[in-house]
Amino acid sequence: MATWKSPPRSAQTTIACARCKKPLMARRSCHEARLHCEGCGKDYAIGDYIKEMDEALEQFLEALNCDRV
Ligand SMILES: [Zn+2]
Repeated sequence: MATWKSPPRSAQTTIACARCKKPLMARRSCHEARLHCEGCGKDYAIGDYIKEMDEALEQFLEALNCDRV
């Protein structure tokens, strides 16, 4: 049985929502990661914010890649 720590399902980022400026949550479903705003409820594709990626999002995506093997 695998004993490694599974990657987090979500991570708090410091990336501001384009609509309401609240920090976005990175979330993953089966094979897709999205950015979700808890302020206005909008979901964004990671690609929309890839240029603003912060450390939290970077680590979140790295964990996802490990999980995909
Ligand atoms: Zn928002």
